[in-house]
Amino acid sequence: TLVLGIETSCDETAAALVRRYPDGRGEIVSNIVRSQIDEHRAFGGVVPELAARAHVVHLDAIVSRALGGAETELSKVDVIAATAGPGLIGGVLVGLTTGKALAAATGKPLVAVNHLEGHALTARLTDGVQFPYLMLLVSGGHSQIVLVKGVGDYERWGSTIDDALGEAFDKAAKLLGLGYPGGPEVEKAAQQGDAKRFNLPRPLLREKRLDFSFSGLKTALRLAAESVAPVTDTDIADLCASFQAAVTDIVAVRSRQALERFAAAYPDAAPTYVVAGGVAANRAIGGALREIAAQTGAHLVVPPAALCTDNGAMIAWAGAERFALGLTDGFDVAARPRWPLEELRWGAA
Ligand code: ATP
Ligand code: MG
Ligand code: FE
Repeated sequence: TLVLGIETSCDETAAALVRRYPDGRGEIVSNIVRSQIDEHRAFGGVVPELAARAHVVHLDAIVSRALGGAETELSKVDVIAATAGPGLIGGVLVGLTTGKALAAATGKPLVAVNHLEGHALTARLTDGVQFPYLMLLVSGGHSQIVLVKGVGDYERWGSTIDDALGEAFDKAAKLLGLGYPGGPEVEKAAQQGDAKRFNLPRPLLREKRLDFSFSGLKTALRLAAESVAPVTDTDIADLCASFQAAVTDIVAVRSRQALERFAAAYPDAAPTYVVAGGVAANRAIGGALREIAAQTGAHLVVPPAALCTDNGAMIAWAGAERFALGLTDGFDVAARPRWPLEELRWGAA
């Protein structure tokens, strides 16, 4: 089955072709992403209206590049998949409407994909991971630990009660006068820094529930910066290192708790821990997760960075997995700004 996937829920305009074989293996045929980072840089964050307009301008060309440039290639596609949410509603509407139009024009089935399910199932495309497994999703818009039991079958074990982790990195960078997006900037500055110099809080860490909170950390970082003002490059490096150490601790502790809970729930399953989202690129966090995985005997799966951040291949693949189960959508399917994974449940449950 050859699936065209369209992704426009945030600041990446993306389209991809993915093939799924009857044995469940997948293969990426093409994967075209146009990031809007340059459009949003001046604002230090994604501006929804600008994002939607950029999707309108660029999506047609991105889809046609994913198809190999030739309009006729569309006839070889079996299924059209498009993100239907959650995300910035203007952008989601652009991609979903384009997907509906292509499906209507060609008579091919449409699959409306939940963006988070796209992230969740990517490890099955890249590494053939089997259900059940745990996913840590840490991106600009989400921070969640999710039990992935099957296609459309998810349990959220924890999520952020305020900022997402990527958002926290972006805000930290902004506060310290570093560039956008903030994650890579903070990581770079932290390399020269002393992580022990500032003792930043680890919110919620003593609690048993697997939730995250990052906004208090941002305030603590601001106060720490003010305490040494005017800040030098050394101060910035130390602040970044201290911040990165704090969030790494938080993610590490939560991951260990989640893996212990998984082991208790599925004593016979070999635990697999899948990491997704742009923050997965962070080497300090990656190193801590490798350590936890080694200690708990879990199999850590981190798909390549290009498939951890938003892309069309993950949407095409999720579309392929749903189509294989007979799950398609009508043209009346709505774009949804909010769409938690738990609401995807279908069938006998
Ligand atoms: P979502 O996928 O939730 O809709 P998004 O598109 O903003 O949101 P991604 O594209 O997956 O998310 O990731 C972008 C985020 O990842 C940004 O917040 C960015 O700062 C962060 N990020 C990227 N690289 C790193 C890094 N090396 N360290 C920490 N954070 C990083
Ligand atoms: Mg993005
Ligand atoms: Fe995403």
